[in-house]
Amino acid sequence: MIIILEPSITDHSEEYQQTFNYLSQLPGIATRVHKIQGAQQTLTEIYLIGDTKSLSADDIHALPGVERVIRISEEYRILGRHRDKQRTSGFEYNGIQFSQDNLNIFAGLCAVDTPEHVKTMLQALHEHGQTCTRMGAYKPRTNPYSFQGHGQACLPYVFELAGQYGIKVIAMEVTHEDHIEEIHKCLEQTGQPTGVMLQIGTRNTQNFELLKAVGRQQEFPVLFKRGFGITLNESLNAAEYLASEGNSRVIFCLRGVKTNMSDPHRNLVDFSQVPVIKRLTRMPVCIDPSHSVGSREHSPDGILDLMHATAQGIISGANMVLVDFHPEPAKALVDGPQAMLMSELDWFLKDVALTRECYQKRQKLAQQQRTA
Ligand code: PEP
Ligand code: MN
Repeated sequence: MIIILEPSITDHSEEYQQTFNYLSQLPGIATRVHKIQGAQQTLTEIYLIGDTKSLSADDIHALPGVERVIRISEEYRILGRHRDKQRTSGFEYNGIQFSQDNLNIFAGLCAVDTPEHVKTMLQALHEHGQTCTRMGAYKPRTNPYSFQGHGQACLPYVFELAGQYGIKVIAMEVTHEDHIEEIHKCLEQTGQPTGVMLQIGTRNTQNFELLKAVGRQQEFPVLFKRGFGITLNESLNAAEYLASEGNSRVIFCLRGVKTNMSDPHRNLVDFSQVPVIKRLTRMPVCIDPSHSVGSREHSPDGILDLMHATAQGIISGANMVLVDFHPEPAKALVDGPQAMLMSELDWFLKDVALTRECYQKRQKLAQQQRTA
């Protein structure tokens, strides 16, 4: 059971103390307080864990300072929606809003290779009014002899260049908890020129110790990728590890699933699940067409498969797109064959805007149908 307190209630208020004391002495029930930091105010939710079936929701609703009571019907206690349309979704980070209602594009390098390529990428994004990017410093590779990413050595120039080009948020994968501290330190040393969203890659979806470490810190939000070979439910449960440790600023990313049924694509595109995740949870949903499709092939209509896949996700309401670009894909050290070209950025963004507009029109049409 989740008890949502009125927005004006703080830990020090009389109502909070009374309600919390009452709940704490319920036999066989543990309480856990969860704070949701919104743009204007902090919302307090109290979770009752244990056998809550015998509790009366009406009695609890009548306690001081209680706004609403929700019976949890499904898993993903904190991140879940629990059939409650009013539950807030999303968060703000470094001036950028992330929610189930808007769209952010994270175009950038799969892996940082040279400062020149980083600069070219960020400059192009800036020229197109973009404020977010992706930049891989720590790369999980199949082959131990492949390039593993420049790691912390590249962070100073990546962050400084990001600041110079007005980039507010960089999605950056971490593969070990030490990387969080490295990123934190480097941001501090460079004077916080930008922000970082910690990415959990598909190979680490169920690396529970890493998830706990990323969940324990509150500084950075998290981009969490679904596992490539597990069910959606298993991935959503894994995402809940982040929230259960205290960090519920989580975006869930679809990136395709591994099966040779996807041939000739790298993974089977799973973007039809965008609305499913929005229904089951409060997380904004990201799509990663690059790691799903994995190539620059195009169909007779002249549109790249990557862009068709992107459109499929956006037309279903995706809230974020993570996409690989590279100034010289032939020289890219990771995933060159799936990188879009700088000359295609303008086209890509226009196609995205067109598809988003179409989604918004579909949303209106659905509203008209429901109110008719
Ligand atoms: C990536 O985004 O660079 C990446 C490695 O993706 P995934 O974890 O989805 O394979
Ligand atoms: Mn990659």
